[in-house]
Amino acid sequence: LQVQRTYNFNAGPSALPISVLEKAQEELIDFRGTGMSVMELSHRSKAYEDVHNQAIASLKELLSIPDTHEVLFLQGGASLQFSMIPMNFLQTGKKAGYVMTGSWSEKAFTEAKLFGEVYHAASTKEGNYRSIPTLDQLQYNSTDAYLHLTSNNTIYGTQWKDFPDTGDVPLIADMSSDILSKPIDVSKFALIYAGAQKNLGPSGVTVVIIRKDLLEQAHTAIPTMLKYSTHSKNNSLYNTPPTFGIYMLGEVLNWVRELGGLSAIAEQNEKKANLIYETIDASNGFYIGHATPDSRSLMNLTFNLASKDLEKKFLEQAKQSGFVGVNGHRSIGGCRVSAYNAVPVEACQAFKEFMIQFQTENS
Ligand code: PLP
Repeated sequence: LQVQRTYNFNAGPSALPISVLEKAQEELIDFRGTGMSVMELSHRSKAYEDVHNQAIASLKELLSIPDTHEVLFLQGGASLQFSMIPMNFLQTGKKAGYVMTGSWSEKAFTEAKLFGEVYHAASTKEGNYRSIPTLDQLQYNSTDAYLHLTSNNTIYGTQWKDFPDTGDVPLIADMSSDILSKPIDVSKFALIYAGAQKNLGPSGVTVVIIRKDLLEQAHTAIPTMLKYSTHSKNNSLYNTPPTFGIYMLGEVLNWVRELGGLSAIAEQNEKKANLIYETIDASNGFYIGHATPDSRSLMNLTFNLASKDLEKKFLEQAKQSGFVGVNGHRSIGGCRVSAYNAVPVEACQAFKEFMIQFQTENS
C-alpha cells in the first residue's frame, strides 16, 4: 500500500516518523504475541511494564540523563506543569524568577503567581519576543526556589543556544518544543518538562526529568496526583498511565537511536532549518524573519511577508501545494514552518523551492 504522505509543518501535534507509524500499525491488533493491542494490556502486566521501562531506559540513554535524575511519565500536558511546579516548589516562602520569552512563559508565570511570589528574571516582550536574553541579562536571587525558562518558543520561533549555570538555584525548563532535537547537558537542570506531541510522540503523555533531591524538598499539602513524589515512588504507575502514548514514545526513541542519536538528529535539524533561513535571508526583504538571527529556532521558523494580502496569498498557495500547518499561531499570525525531528529534509527542500517560486511570481 503506497500512501501519499503530507508535508506536515504543524506546530503540535506534529509529524511522526513513518516507520514508527508502520510498526504501530503492524502491532496494533496483536502486540508481540499477546493476542491483544498494546492499548488493551493491563498496565500491571509484564508485557506493558517492559514497554514502560524500556521507554524510560531509552530516554535516559539518548539524553544521557545522569543517575541523579529520574524520568516520570505524567498527564495533563505541559500546561499542568505550569501549576505543578509552583505547587510543589514555590509554597516554601521563597521566590521564583521567570524568564519571559513568549506566550508559554507568560502562561507558566500566570499559574505560578497563584502559589507564591514570582518575578521576571528577564523579558524580551518589548522587542515583541524576537530574541532570547543574553545570559548576563538574567537577574535572579541566589536564595530563589527556582529559575524557570522556556527553551524553545514555539509561537515566536526563538530558541536558547546556551543555558545559564545557576549554581544552587534549581533551573527548570519547559522543553516541550525542542526536547530530543539536540544533545543537552541534563545535569544543568533540576527539572525539565515537555508535552510529547512535538518530538516525542503523540499527545497524552508529559515527560518530566527531575533531580531526585528536589523530590524531598517539595511541599506536601497538595493533592496526591499533583505531587511529583507520588509518581516517583510508583515508577509513574500510581494510576493508569497513557499506555499507548508511552508505547509510541518508546518507538520514537528507537527511531532516534537508529538514526544515530541526538548528534545525528541535531545535524539534520540544522540542515532543514538552514534551507528555510537561507531563503529568507536571500530574499531581499520579501520574506521577513521574525526572530533575530542569533535567537532563531531550529524547530519553529517564523516569518512574515510585506503585506497581509501577500501573506494570505502565500498561505493559500502553500496549502494548495500540499504544505500543511504553515499558518502562524492564531495569537500572532504570519507564517511558521515547524520542522520537528520527524519532518524529513525533503519537506524543507520542497518548501524552499516553493518559497523561491512564489517570490519570483510575486515580485
Ligand atoms: N509549552 C510550550 C513551549 C508549548 O509549545 C506548548 C504547546 O504547544 C505548551 C507548553 C503547552 O503544552 P500542552 O498542550 O501539552 O499543555
